[in-house]
Amino acid sequence: MTDHPKEKCIILGSGPAGLTAAIYAARADMNPLVFEGDAPGGQLLQTTDVENFPGFRDGILGPTLMNEMREQAKKFGARTIYKKVTKTDFSDPDNLKCWVDDELFTAESIIVATGAQARWLNLGQGEEKYWGKGYTACATCDGAFFRDREVAIVGGGDSACEEASFLTKFASKVYLIHRRNELRASKPMQKRVFDNDKIEIIWNQNVTELRGENKLESVELTESDTGEKSELKIDGLFVAIGHTPNTSIFEGQLAMKDSGYLKVEGNTKTSIPSVFVAGDVSDDHYRQAITAAGLGCMAALDLEHYMAGKES
Ligand code: NAP
Repeated sequence: MTDHPKEKCIILGSGPAGLTAAIYAARADMNPLVFEGDAPGGQLLQTTDVENFPGFRDGILGPTLMNEMREQAKKFGARTIYKKVTKTDFSDPDNLKCWVDDELFTAESIIVATGAQARWLNLGQGEEKYWGKGYTACATCDGAFFRDREVAIVGGGDSACEEASFLTKFASKVYLIHRRNELRASKPMQKRVFDNDKIEIIWNQNVTELRGENKLESVELTESDTGEKSELKIDGLFVAIGHTPNTSIFEGQLAMKDSGYLKVEGNTKTSIPSVFVAGDVSDDHYRQAITAAGLGCMAALDLEHYMAGKES
């Protein structure tokens, strides 16, 4: 068992929320310690070009953007460690505890920015090789790369329907592939899909294999009832089958919604006064790098305000 000296501020997560919080906290002399988790950089590591982050008119690669954010935070004194917190105990708000296996870290304040993960199809065929090469979970981020191409989206919820409609701005044709014969999405969202001539719904089908040499070229479909297989040629496959927030280590510590997302008061406050939250771990609506970064800034400012109140 290793115990470390008490920190002023610990930040959990190294996506745009965590690293923006680190930049602000470091510049405010909070000397933050950032736990980067097991995917330093967060969800942007799984994208290629990011074209909608202000300041980069020619776009920037997701991993490059995250590396720049990390180096910017470090320039101001943030310390980052490539470790994932495995357990927390927030029962004493002045002495917040985080463990990395049997190493104990304590802090006066914490920003939770552990993010969320898009659910992927998990086909067991090494589908990761198609990430950013036609296989993506973010229509807002990647839709514009498929101008005049044929694409498909998997899912039957509000996200799939909303993103299918969004994709018709670019793609010449959008297939919406759903595993059942009725959509889960709300009626108005369904209507948007049914009324759009560019969208064709493929009912009762599961995507069971991704195919293509260096990029995605087609998918194998399997009929839900009969198991009959077919092939659909497409340039892009978008997955919209839900997200999972990374909140398991906060169970019993922080208030959560039934969906597992952290409950937030105002913009960044959790159920514990010394614990703040930023980014996709509590935001199941916007889920953008720039909104996460904005929330990271807010969390750091709120934390600074909290610490100043404690000291005065
Ligand atoms: P969701 O409502 O959970 O829908 C997920 C969809 O993916 C379902 O249709 C589900 O099929 C399908 N699915 C799940 N696992 C699958 C798999 N392994 N293979 C194939 N299909 C799979 O998720 P969401 O659409 O992301 O929405 C999340 C929440 O955000 C919802 O409360 C939604 O209302 C809300 N939201 C609202 C808006 C809006 O109002 N503008 C926009 C987006 C999201 P089944 O139907 O068969 O289970």
